[in-house]
Amino acid sequence: MATLARQQHPLADSASQLRHYDEVTGIIPPFSSTLQKAGYDGLFAGRPEILQINVGKLCNQTCRHCHVDAGPDRREVMSRETMEQCLQFLDRSGMKTVDITGGAPELNPHYRWLVSECRQRGCRVMTRCNLTIITAHERFNDLPRFFAQHQVEVISSLPFYEASRTDRQRGTGVFDASIEALLLLNAEGYGKPDSGLQLHLVYNPVGAFLSAPQQMLEQQFKKELSNRYGIVFNNLYVINNLPISRFLHFLLQSGQYEEYMKKLVMAFNPATVPALMCRYTLSVSWEGFLYDCDFNQMLDLKITDQAGNARHISTVPAEALQERRIMVSQHCYGCTAGSGSSCGGQLVP
Ligand code: SF4
Ligand code: SF4
Repeated sequence: MATLARQQHPLADSASQLRHYDEVTGIIPPFSSTLQKAGYDGLFAGRPEILQINVGKLCNQTCRHCHVDAGPDRREVMSRETMEQCLQFLDRSGMKTVDITGGAPELNPHYRWLVSECRQRGCRVMTRCNLTIITAHERFNDLPRFFAQHQVEVISSLPFYEASRTDRQRGTGVFDASIEALLLLNAEGYGKPDSGLQLHLVYNPVGAFLSAPQQMLEQQFKKELSNRYGIVFNNLYVINNLPISRFLHFLLQSGQYEEYMKKLVMAFNPATVPALMCRYTLSVSWEGFLYDCDFNQMLDLKITDQAGNARHISTVPAEALQERRIMVSQHCYGCTAGSGSSCGGQLVP
């Protein structure tokens, strides 16, 4: 399947996605006014703790729900120079947690260098690994060993413990390849008690609905993956699908867009607001521009200075990012629905 970008689809353009949000404004209240009713005059960042580096849109998969519109036909990958600028930012900001994402980040030729540089700085490093990359080619087969040697926390998507639902969202054969990769990670000690090697799985609904509670699903996944394949892992993160890029495309094509947005609004939970990930995360694009989160990045809602100029990782003073006003729009309802949603799973019990 070609990405929206390759198809030159209108939704490949972030402005066109934002226009769809305007279309439902008469039906769905603006997110900012819902926040205000809940007692929040906007969203403001605290001290950034996690630097989430998106090293590019190149991926070996083309999942139906992907908010990045990643795929094998994308060519945008972070250069070594921009990675060096990220490292310099870590040095001057003192941030100690790095979350590497993509695309499939391992396809970036400088990925392993970036990981080892972050680890040498004493940073906790999380990597978003789609699992299938590990078995996609022999040059990636040693990734579990590389992760273990660098004590990297691995966070991997597995929409379900059955092939049909996983393959429906992520592509034919993805489930079997993911199971093979999980067994290789387990063989390195990942997910095993006392190994110190953390393996977390990510669940997101295969459709236009909100997920069941995280704790319940985690127990179910642990039981089923262990019984069926002998697979172990640490935590399950439940993440809502946000109406961005290919998931927005799916919603519009299937005529479920309005209904899904209404579901998110009905499920708005003010208790999630203090824990929203944009309040303590900074997201960097492959070009080095800064965003409040990976979702804002895909909608091209850049962090700007007071004059409206886009902030870039190479020049931004670390202190300028504290207490900044976060850019919000209708997609933010995805993070505040139910128990909330973030790259680390649900936000409140
Ligand atoms: S969801 Fe992840 S694995 Fe799937 S296409 Fe997007 S970046 Fe690749
Ligand atoms: S999409 Fe979520 S994380 Fe991003 S700015 Fe909105 S509420 Fe914050």
